[in-house]
Formats: sequence, C-alpha cells, structure tokens
Amino acid sequence: MGRKAVIAGNWKMNCTWASSVRLAQRISDCCDKKYPDIDIILCPPFTYIKGVANVFSFDRSDIQLGAQNVYEEMPEGIAAATGQVSVEMLKDLECSYCIVGHSECRQHNGESDELVARKVKLLLEHGIIPIICCGESLEVNKAGGTVEFVSGQIRTALEGLSATDVAKSIIAYEPIWAIGTGEVPIPEKIDAICAAIRGLVREMFGSEVAEAVRILYGGSLKPANAHQILPLENVDGGLIGGASLDAEDFHDIVKSAKELMKR
Ligand code: PEP
Repeated sequence: MGRKAVIAGNWKMNCTWASSVRLAQRISDCCDKKYPDIDIILCPPFTYIKGVANVFSFDRSDIQLGAQNVYEEMPEGIAAATGQVSVEMLKDLECSYCIVGHSECRQHNGESDELVARKVKLLLEHGIIPIICCGESLEVNKAGGTVEFVSGQIRTALEGLSATDVAKSIIAYEPIWAIGTGEVPIPEKIDAICAAIRGLVREMFGSEVAEAVRILYGGSLKPANAHQILPLENVDGGLIGGASLDAEDFHDIVKSAKELMKR
C-alpha cells in the first residue's frame, strides 16, 4: 500500500494557554522522533497554536500542527471578515494541516458542503493539507443511507480539484453519533464506509489517487478500541478528539498505530 499512517488530535475548544503548553510538552516528550512512520498532528484551538508551536520548535519536534477551521476566502486588501482566521494566518502559525467540515462546524456554524469545498480548495492553493471530515447522523445511519450521505459530502468537497491535490488530502470519516459518545460502529462497518469513500475517489480521480489518499476514522477512538480500528485495511489512522486531551491516551493510540498498522 505505502500510505503513511496519521494520528491527529483535535483539541476542539479545550485547554487554557498554560494547560495547552503543558499538554503539548507531554505529548512531545512521549511521541517526538519515536514514530517516523506516522504523521502525528495536533490541532489546538487557534489561540493556543502559537504556544504549542513554540514547544515543538524548542524541541525541534517532528510533531506537526494543524488548525480546526479556516475562513473560506483570502480577500485582497482590507479583509472585512470580523472574527475569522485566514489561510495566510494559519501559514504564519506554521500549520501544515487544517480540519474542515467537522460535523460540529457544519451543525453550529451552518457550514454547507459547498462552503467546505471552498475551504478545501483555498487550503490546497496555499499549501496546507485539508483534513476533510464527513459523517452521518444516527437517523441517516439507521435508515441505511450512510454511504450515499458521506459520498455526497466528499464528492462536493473534491469536485474540480486536481488529482495531485486529492492524493495529498486527508479524509476523516466521523459518524456524528460516535463523536464524544463512546459509541463506535462495528469495525466491519468502518472498513466498509472507508472502502466506499476510497471507491468514490477511484471513480473520480483513478486508482493511483485512491491508493494514495489517506482516510481516517474518528469518533470515540480510544486506547481500548484502537486495536480493532487501526488495522482495518481502508483505515489509515485516526482523528482523535477526547483522547487527545490526555497525553498517555494519545500516546497509547500512537503506539497501537505503530504496532498494528502495517503499511
Ligand atoms: C472529533 O471530534 O473529531 C472526535 C473524533 O471526537 P471524539 O474522539 O471525542 O469522539
């Protein structure tokens, strides 16, 4: 296969300046330079990215930084976008990745598939790798509509991109009903949905791109279930919420990725 594993932490709206620096330092102490075969990424809240970046730069760490969202435009001149954070600002903060289309942003901020697609395009134009989230509600899941639903989200997000850009992008399948709930789909289902997403990428951009794109699972991924999820054929790693706020739990998941993901 040859896809490099990814373990990404989404800290959401947690921490203080001091606790974010402490957590980054603990994660750096456990994970830095020990896992060259895994892309380890932390996505702190915007306000703490610089503090975390300072920790990693002091340690000359190989842990990478991401943001949790971005504004969809990069206007010329005075940017009339109060309260937003631009792609240039993320570059300035040394972010190499950015989560887009997280279900919490879709729900709380009313972000549509089309808006997410604009963010994906903008990030790629500025050299930042998007972590594109998709995932269905419990209702859709129960009605058997998961593949159709997430395929619609991903199709819109990728439409019009170049094959090269799609190959370097990351997709995260995160069922909404699994996020922060302790509920997790059975491993066969996770693999089947991720395989369907890869199939869609194949249909849109060909086999080479489908084999290159990395697809993560997210939603209550913990040290206790990592051994069931990470070895799945179509899963290239995890997007971790709650468990990324605990350095030991996060490290345990990284260790599972190293042991279980044969790439
Ligand atoms: C997330 O919000 O991206 C996530 C996966 O959260 P959790 O791991 O807490 O379910």
